Amino acid sequence: MKKTKIKVKPRVITVLKVIGVILCLLLGVFLFYLKQINDLKSLDYSDKASNKILFSYKKDYIMSIGKNETLNKAFESDDYNEDNLDIYRRIKYVPHKDLISNINKAIKLGYKYSDINIIFKHGDNDSVKRFLKRDKVKYLEEFFSIDYAKLDNYERYLKYADETGEDEDVTVLCVNLDLDKEDYVDAVKVEKFSIDMLVNKHRYLSEDYEPNDLMEIPEEYVSEAGMKSSRIAFNAFKEMSNAASKEGYGIVINSAYRSYQDQVELGEYYKKWYGQSYVDKYVAKPGFSEHQTGLAYDVGSRSVNVFANSREYQWMKDNAYKYGFIERFTKRYENITGFRMEAWHYRYVGKDIAKYIHDNNISFEEYWAINLDK
Ligand SMILES: [Zn+2]
Repeated sequence: MKKTKIKVKPRVITVLKVIGVILCLLLGVFLFYLKQINDLKSLDYSDKASNKILFSYKKDYIMSIGKNETLNKAFESDDYNEDNLDIYRRIKYVPHKDLISNINKAIKLGYKYSDINIIFKHGDNDSVKRFLKRDKVKYLEEFFSIDYAKLDNYERYLKYADETGEDEDVTVLCVNLDLDKEDYVDAVKVEKFSIDMLVNKHRYLSEDYEPNDLMEIPEEYVSEAGMKSSRIAFNAFKEMSNAASKEGYGIVINSAYRSYQDQVELGEYYKKWYGQSYVDKYVAKPGFSEHQTGLAYDVGSRSVNVFANSREYQWMKDNAYKYGFIERFTKRYENITGFRMEAWHYRYVGKDIAKYIHDNNISFEEYWAINLDK
């Protein structure tokens, strides 16, 4: 047999060698790239952010900082501005759609990172955007050191403080409760039944609203048959009334749930006897009465006509909160509740809130503004 020898030209070998070296180099570069990306991804930076970090030569910087959600968003964003990098990393992340462009705007207006953190704490994406349309506010802390201050109310805070001379705390509280507006004007509609719902002269219920769990109250608890209530409130009332009764106190319900139409008729009744100005002053307009929630009761003593003079009133002062009830309209808070003192009007808010309000001696409006107004 004749051996055949394949003869390869030396030039071809050289070319193949060069290709081999290039392929090895490319593979090396690719592996190096993967390693870099993985370093960043292990710190929760997204693919998009990691690539941008890498190709803008910021990897060392990021690795020295570590995890940072705001930086991740910044590198993902088309609004990323390298000059603002050191501020981005100091901004506490909030899930706002325009986070990065809002930070850029705030920096342009002259806000420091600490100011920007304050701003983001007090409003959602759109409120922040609106707030940044105004010139830089010199003393942000003036109102926004108060946790529940709102960016959107800033103008009203200034006006209210200026007009009334009240301090920042009172100003923020009153404006958030719309007390800078006239009663019944520009009111907020309350849609959903809940034991912590707030209905007053600035927050109303629609004509057809009624509580989810409306029931008729058994006759032994009421001064007149046929009264209705929210079941959850009545169960608590029953427990309270039975406890009082065991100790020798007689508490009776004189008025409970009142529909919109009931409130219309009540207004007409008082108008007939006492005139319109009495009605305007003392009777809530239809939709604006807490009785429509099904969670409020006017109570009386079984032995004394004037409830405020009764032993039962004292008992309620000491014990109602244990069952989830608060005395709703006290003398001390007439300016906030918008109602003169009504010793007989109790509101069910649940045991936790009632205890808090009792222990801290505040009004339901204050509790709501601080804890529930989201
Ligand atoms: Zn009442």
